[in-house]
Amino acid sequence: MNTESTMQFAFSLIATPTPHDQIVASIANPVFGRVFTDHMATVRWTSALGWHDAKIEARRPFQIDPACAVLHYAQEIFEGMKAYRGEDNSVSLFRPFENAKRFRASAERMSMAELPDALFVGAVESLVKVDRDWVPGGDGSLYLRPFMFATETFLGVRASSEYLFCVIASPVGPYFKAGKTAVTVWVSDRYTRAALGGTGAAKCGGNYAAGLSAQTEASANGCDQVVFLDAAEHKWIEELGGMNVFFVMDDGSLRTPPLSGTILPGITRASIIELAKREGIVVSEEPYAFETWQADAISGRVREAFACGTAAVVTAIGAVRHAAGEFTIGDGGEGPVTQRIRATLTGIQRGKIADPFGWIHHVA
Ligand SMILES: *Cc1c(COP(=O)(O)O)cnc(C)c1O
Repeated sequence: MNTESTMQFAFSLIATPTPHDQIVASIANPVFGRVFTDHMATVRWTSALGWHDAKIEARRPFQIDPACAVLHYAQEIFEGMKAYRGEDNSVSLFRPFENAKRFRASAERMSMAELPDALFVGAVESLVKVDRDWVPGGDGSLYLRPFMFATETFLGVRASSEYLFCVIASPVGPYFKAGKTAVTVWVSDRYTRAALGGTGAAKCGGNYAAGLSAQTEASANGCDQVVFLDAAEHKWIEELGGMNVFFVMDDGSLRTPPLSGTILPGITRASIIELAKREGIVVSEEPYAFETWQADAISGRVREAFACGTAAVVTAIGAVRHAAGEFTIGDGGEGPVTQRIRATLTGIQRGKIADPFGWIHHVA
């Protein structure tokens, strides 16, 4: 018997959970990532015991030793996913097994223990069930953050022999300021995100730490986000700090950079490709040079551009700024194709549109 995939979560629920009216007030208009639910899921791994000690318990601080491996060598990975409340009050997840699979791939790249998919999804589902009242309705959702880090107390440089897997949850509204229809992006000629052979395709905290300088540069130049170019030639468009990127061409086709090993394989990206193909839209996964993007935006060959990911869903790119200038995409606002893709995807996620793909995972 595979004990890991049939492992049960022990529940030690909070004695005095947040009162219902207080939950309703705190999920009404939450700032992204500031408000958290009452509980968390944890599972431990040691080289001696494998996965064990699966729990749902009160959300609380961890106690870790100052020599805890993650604090020194950054063995840490995470996922980002959402639970949605439908109009019929049902709660569902979007393709959670895709997150589980990617989490295993990230673990493998970072030499960490690989959590079985059933345990990953079981942890997320158990937490959502317990904190179900915290799932906002309407345009909101419950953002779920599964993560894992090295917990061994040891300063030697090697893979840790102990890990802690945890899931926390945070009710969220829109990622960007309400009413903002398109973002301005910055293209840095100084910083890159990932090189071939590096960790670009893994969802690890270190990639984000390395991207913060570019984000600071973007903010200083009045931009919302960074578009990274490839590290080798500094020529090809890769992705944003936490989102993939698509272009809408004048022939109606979509274009997105290929998963070359330096780009995070977004589940939103994959879903948009499947949605588009089903609608008969041609999608090309071909390298696209930044200079060509600029020329195509000016000539009108590129009509729209958008960024996509779980947190920000689908967000139009209205303008692109770099050290030598700036250009606008379309009329600088959200174009019709971007709008339609966003509406279809969020419609499926929220159960307003039939799901022909089997992407929706209901939480009983
Ligand atoms: C998480 C992430 C994405 C988006 O992935 P989704 O599965 O669509 O949420 C894109 N790029 C980076 C760098 C990411 O970390």
